[in-house]
Amino acid sequence: MDEHPLKQVGEFGLIDRIQTWFNEETSDLLGIGDDCTVIPRGDDEVELVTTDLLIEETHFLFDKITPEELGHKSLAVNLSDIAAMGGRPKHVWMSIGLTARADLPWLERFFTGMHDLAQRHGVRLLGGDTTKSQKHLVINIMVTGETTRSQVKLRSAARAGDIVFVTGTLGDSGGGLQLLLEDLHETGDPAEQKLIRAHNRPDAVVDGGIWLGKQAGVHALIDLSDGISSDAGHVANRSGVIIDIELADLPLSTELRQVAQKRGWDPVQLACSAGEDYALMGTCDAGGWDSLQKSYKEEIGYDLHAVGVVRNRNDTEQQPSPGPRRLTEGGEVRFLKNGKPFDLSGRGYDHFKSG
Ligand code: ADP
Ligand code: MG
Repeated sequence: MDEHPLKQVGEFGLIDRIQTWFNEETSDLLGIGDDCTVIPRGDDEVELVTTDLLIEETHFLFDKITPEELGHKSLAVNLSDIAAMGGRPKHVWMSIGLTARADLPWLERFFTGMHDLAQRHGVRLLGGDTTKSQKHLVINIMVTGETTRSQVKLRSAARAGDIVFVTGTLGDSGGGLQLLLEDLHETGDPAEQKLIRAHNRPDAVVDGGIWLGKQAGVHALIDLSDGISSDAGHVANRSGVIIDIELADLPLSTELRQVAQKRGWDPVQLACSAGEDYALMGTCDAGGWDSLQKSYKEEIGYDLHAVGVVRNRNDTEQQPSPGPRRLTEGGEVRFLKNGKPFDLSGRGYDHFKSG
């Protein structure tokens, strides 16, 4: 089989090239490279814009996701990128390329799933485009959101000394995908059903993102769409720092542990590399960590989990040496297991390098 010609540069290498080809950044506008584009509107307000494309067979299998779940997921992955900037989602545009299988009853269910989620977060569909597609169902959604200059959370804002945290368990979605791919989705095991649901119907951390956006002690924020191994790399790279992730601290659900044991999987590998968990990963002042965690629990109702620390690139004293590491352009992610350097062979998801 021919290799995809983009395999060498990879998804993120290609995005870097697009950025070079369209080298039109202005100092006031944040274009390519974060979870959303940031467009200044007036003195303090900024508008956030994000778009995500879902293609049948690449992002979902038509027979292994319900129409309601797909409608929900298509919107949720976009809401997640607004949350990753600390913003509040506002308006939605949707373009769809429909195959014969996506008939009217199917579409009614698809829109029910999407509409329920839109209502829950007070966002409105304002437009889009509709066409026919011969082979694959295609869904492209764009969402706008709002925040302020002082509250917008960028991937580039991590600082040495910060605690790295995540807003939820990791790896459930990857486990669910594995079950779907191996045709193991009809076993009736409740733990397995939970993982499949995490994959097919992910919940974006919308209220959590808005709340974290308001916290001055929270610096960088990103959503975990490609796996922490890859996404922590984006933060390290854009912030020019080292991120040390302690594998023993990654939060794993009881269900993932159970299913992984039953199926002989490595749950930590799934948590790091499988992606599509749509938890948020952030960095915050170490001194404010305890009160941040406490207030998040009180006000949002969920735990924040500390999973690592941010270090200065030049701070050689703090580097465990020599250790396996993931080099990124301007930063670095290192994995530790119980404090010792650990070679995590899996990578985060890349559309051209993976699969
Ligand atoms: P996310 O996983 O948060 O959706 P991506 O990894 O898809 O982010 O994209 C990273 C950055 O690259 C984003 O700022 C996005 O807008 C930009 N980007 C991705 N694909 C393209 C493209 N085809 N043209 C321009 N910008 C792109
Ligand atoms: Mg994102």
